[in-house]
Amino acid sequence: MIRFALDDTIASLATPVGAGALSIIRVSGPEASLVVARVFRGERELSALQGFQGAHGWLFDAAGAVDEVVVWVYRAPRSYTGEDMIEISCHGGSVSASRALEALWAAGARPAEPGEFTRRAFLHGRIDLAQAEAVADVIEARGRRAHEQALAQLQGGLSRRVRELAGEIREVLLVIEAHLDFGEDVPEVPESGALATRLMGAERELDRLAGSYLPSRRVREGYVIALIGKPNVGKSSLLNALSGRDRALVHDAPGTTRDVVDVVVEWSGIPVRLVDTAGLRVAGADAVEEAGMERTRLEAGAADAVLWVVDVSRAPSEEDEAAATGLDMSRVVLALNKSDLGVSGLEWWANNYSPAYRRFVVSALSGAGVSELQLALETMVSAGCDESMWVTNERHARQLVSAQEGLGRAQGVLETGGNLELCAADLGRALGSLAAITGDDVDDDLLDAIFSRFCIGK
Ligand code: GDP
Repeated sequence: MIRFALDDTIASLATPVGAGALSIIRVSGPEASLVVARVFRGERELSALQGFQGAHGWLFDAAGAVDEVVVWVYRAPRSYTGEDMIEISCHGGSVSASRALEALWAAGARPAEPGEFTRRAFLHGRIDLAQAEAVADVIEARGRRAHEQALAQLQGGLSRRVRELAGEIREVLLVIEAHLDFGEDVPEVPESGALATRLMGAERELDRLAGSYLPSRRVREGYVIALIGKPNVGKSSLLNALSGRDRALVHDAPGTTRDVVDVVVEWSGIPVRLVDTAGLRVAGADAVEEAGMERTRLEAGAADAVLWVVDVSRAPSEEDEAAATGLDMSRVVLALNKSDLGVSGLEWWANNYSPAYRRFVVSALSGAGVSELQLALETMVSAGCDESMWVTNERHARQLVSAQEGLGRAQGVLETGGNLELCAADLGRALGSLAAITGDDVDDDLLDAIFSRFCIGK
């Protein structure tokens, strides 16, 4: 596609538009220096600068001075894109950078498409496709753990593992192909049992990697805990105690005043949204309260876990029980709140609903039991999230599963002495799936789909 030719020079803003001390503009392509030199006057000639050198000066357009800037020069292939590149630091705000960009476009650069800098880095072999996708994940990471996952992928961890596995599969395929070429007289592949065992090892590792996608998604997208219970049992107070923030700082989610209020905290490096729902009552609710309660049921149904709050100083009521009706109790943690007012023997009642390890006697007011409750919730949130290698991308997970299925079929053929041509074809397809992860074998449509999701300037 002409749009993605590599022989022209692109320019765009790499930082968000708006107030800020600096904005950074990126220029990349064979004429990067030439284009910038047309609008830049500084203490040093750009053409005299080597890679990793900078100069201070001013940018000009046809109307006059645009901004005071610092330009930083990279020479191919030692730049992000692998091409000649210049980064211009100008002042932040909405005017400097847009005027500077227009001057650069008038001087011969063209506006970059979304993700085009990273696409060029991939096409020039600076990074593979999984690493290119990790760039977007680093930027979008909302918690420390998600950031760590994205960095590991950016450093090539997943790509290395995938290539190792591909190497294993290729070796098995070579033996089978050699047999197909020369071994007509021998009905079975020599050591087919050993080959099947090797495939089984690779299949297990693919399974483990693909299986890390779901927990990794939770790490990236966050975990949701909905607080439910009848009115006045202390849901909001407990939310404040757990988040260490005051309700006054909590922002209202869009909707009515009886709507859901939430706070995002970070536990074990994972973003956790604590959702304070409207109290659920059985009778006497007006239309607005009804709407709030309907929303509560939806929130509780969609949440990863539910914290059911009950006032332990009073006898349990029908309303308490109604709050938890229809919930999957394996996702429910029970908080017996207001323990400072005395415990009215509610524990035996609670036995009907939750095992002791998912039941906490707390006081949001005095703080008693709150840290134990928090620890239990935190352990729940981070359960299964201690993998050393993650698959964070749905596309990668799908390719891993398809490679795994191919290996399973090939293994079956080897074990049962079936058709070796089919076995070789399955292994070939599995290798194709793995190559699509690293980008060793991809087409333009896939690249378009991946990079169009990037922001401009990336
Ligand atoms: P919600 O309607 O369930 O969100 O309950 P609130 O958090 O608004 O609390 C209702 C009332 O109970 C308020 O007056 C709180 O100060 C009080 N409250 C909440 N937690 C406790 C607690 O642990 N002990 C005592 N004594 N009062 C509490």
